[in-house]
Parts: sequence; C-alpha cells; structure tokens
Amino acid sequence: MCSDNRNIRGKLIMIAVSAILFVCAFDVNRPLYSKTEVGCTIVGSLETNCYFLYDDTTKKALIIDPGSNGEKLAELTLWKELQVCAVLITHGHDDHTSGLPEFLEKIDCPVYAPSKDSSLLESNGIRGFRTFKNDETLEIADFRIKVIEVPSHTKGASAFFLQSNDTSASKLFSGDILFADAIGKTWEPGDDIRELDGIRERLLVLPDSTVVYPGHGKPSTIREIKVWIAKW
Ligand SMILES: [Zn+2]
Repeated sequence: MCSDNRNIRGKLIMIAVSAILFVCAFDVNRPLYSKTEVGCTIVGSLETNCYFLYDDTTKKALIIDPGSNGEKLAELTLWKELQVCAVLITHGHDDHTSGLPEFLEKIDCPVYAPSKDSSLLESNGIRGFRTFKNDETLEIADFRIKVIEVPSHTKGASAFFLQSNDTSASKLFSGDILFADAIGKTWEPGDDIRELDGIRERLLVLPDSTVVYPGHGKPSTIREIKVWIAKW
C-alpha cells in the first residue's frame, strides 16, 4: 500500500515538473534576444559603420548612427522590409549623424541621442531628438538597450549594450569610444587617461563573449580587446 502511494506521488511530481518545463519553454512573454541580428553598411568619407539591429521574426529594427547617405539607408531598410522603431546616436559628431535628416524624410521615427551632446548635435543641424543619460535603459519595441556613457571623445559619448539571455549573444555598440584595436581619439590633456579608465571600469566588465561593434572598422569581442588593452 505504502509502495503504491509512493509510486502515485512520484508520478504526480513528474507530471508537475514536466508541466513547469513546458510552460518555461513556451513562455511567449520572454524576450528571445538571441534572434536579434546585426546588419552594417559603411557610409561617408570617414567610413562610418551604420548598424541595423533587428529582430528577424518581427522585423522591428533600430538604426544606429546614420552617418551619411540617409536616402540609401532608408532604401536598405525598406528593401529588407524592416519596421524602424527608432534611430540611436552614439555621439554628436557629424560623421555619425549627417544622414539623419534625409533618412527621416523617408522614414519617420523617434531619434535618441546623448543629452550631454545636445549642443554639439544642434550645431551640426540635428534637432527634435529625445535625449538619454548614462545608465538609462531604453525600452523600444522588444529591445532593451542599456546606455553606458564613457566621456572624452565627446562629452556625452555613449555605448549601447544589448544584453541577451544567452550571454554569448550580447552586443555592444561602442561608437567612437572603443575600436577593435584602439581607443577613441581625444582632444585635451588627460582625456585619454579618463577615457581608458572609463573603458576599463564600464565596458571591459561586460561578458568576455560580448561582440563589440565599433563606429569604424571591424567588430571584435571584449575578450580580444582585453588582450591588447592590458599592454597600455
Ligand atoms: Zn566621433
């Protein structure tokens, strides 16, 4: 009798565990960031990387740094049938923003830019944008983007971190703060030290497997960057 009860209890526990596993596996509210794709096109005389961050299933997309050729960028998004939810700007230099007015003529969407670069952006003719601050999390469509500010290249120079449930799929858009084999250009004495400290304290603490997509040049990973930056 006791043995029968144990068998029944065992079966009930198995059914309950299976039901929980089933619900977890098919939780439709759980964001699946690993589906997020990154496209890139190089624009302008300074060969700026303009990124398309998009969900391949929903086609919702963010555009990062439309540096030039706004009309061409808009055509590319339409050709890929992407639904642009916002444009994000890493910093106020015009090689990262010049294509924005033309792009917005074709595709109307909100623009987010660093609050500390507002006057720089306005001096380059960029207006009507929403601002963000250091450590803010931007929730746009299904994207959750953490803003990591590392000043020196500009006052508000910011990187965008897209965290994934699967850490091997985490992505960092580093603008001109950090490249595959160099740190961003600075202008005043001591700025390079401040920038390097910021990179070490705020970016190199991200998971080693995070892919780093810079404003110029090829992508890299936090693991690869740690190797050369340790020699500075
Ligand atoms: Zn720049």
